[in-house]
Amino acid sequence: MKRDDQVDCRGVIVAHYGVAVEVAFADGQRCAVRVKRNSGHVIGDEVVIRGEVLRRLPRRTELRRRDATGHIHLLAANLDLLGIVVAPVPVMPPNFLDRAIVAARAADLTPFLVVNKVDLDSDVLIAALRTTYAASLPIFPLSAASGAGLDPLRAFFSSGHRGAFVGTTGVGKSSLLNALCPAIDLRVGELNDYNDKGCHTTTVSTLHALPDGGELVDTPGFQDFGMVAISAEELAAYFPGFEENGVNTCRFRNCRHRSEPRCAVIARVEQGVVSAERYRTYLELLDEVEASEVVDRQRSWKD
Ligand code: GDP
Ligand code: ZN
Repeated sequence: MKRDDQVDCRGVIVAHYGVAVEVAFADGQRCAVRVKRNSGHVIGDEVVIRGEVLRRLPRRTELRRRDATGHIHLLAANLDLLGIVVAPVPVMPPNFLDRAIVAARAADLTPFLVVNKVDLDSDVLIAALRTTYAASLPIFPLSAASGAGLDPLRAFFSSGHRGAFVGTTGVGKSSLLNALCPAIDLRVGELNDYNDKGCHTTTVSTLHALPDGGELVDTPGFQDFGMVAISAEELAAYFPGFEENGVNTCRFRNCRHRSEPRCAVIARVEQGVVSAERYRTYLELLDEVEASEVVDRQRSWKD
């Protein structure tokens, strides 16, 4: 498609193919624009195009992950939801959910919880998750395989939300994406012309419009959210269960809620509003995060 070289056209990056991005415009039209391989553009970026020149607009949010070597990668921009997917199998790694919720909130994304595979024995898991997390985030028990429970999630997205799913391998993220967005398979391999080596193009990432409204980002390679980097400050500010009506109850900046005088979190534990078990989980995770921050600092001295 040819666009006017003299006119600014504002759009959103809906697919990233390494050396090209696909931009969708408000009128529904799309065009492909070549980019440098490390141009830093990501899915969800709002851009202004004039001729062949792509200018990125400031981002509202950024979704990042950390790889096994400790490097941070930007995965998507301008999302507002992060769906954390768990299932009765595979069993989630310890602290996975708390870390993911903290990371989402720290990135200004609204987390929600999907309990997939409810066709399997999952009542105990759902009840336990509801007890701990129902006051902190919406919970959607469903089955991507049977379609049961998908409608409330569709409704949740339908008011124009844009989100992505995270979760460990095997919980059913791809199945869920396919169930919510049946057109996904049709998109694969559409932009083969942009592959200069003549072999099959692999899509780095794609933004899919859902039939009932809302959008979902498919981020291949973003399997394991366990590697996510959260700081001790973020943990103290966003640990699920310490908030009241969504607001952090401890007003002290930098308070780690460990033994600080007049800390509202400690007071709520003493009053039994926050369970001792929940508080213990927090302290364990805090130790873990602080220990990895020490390792990170040592690594950055060596770099
Ligand atoms: P991903 O690694 O998170 O993308 O997970 P997949 O979508 O590849 O699914 C992993 C496995 O779980 C596959 O064998 C799916 O068939 C299975 N699976 C996905 N959703 C469901 C479900 O709702 N119920 C059951 N029983 N299995 C499911
Ligand atoms: Zn405190």
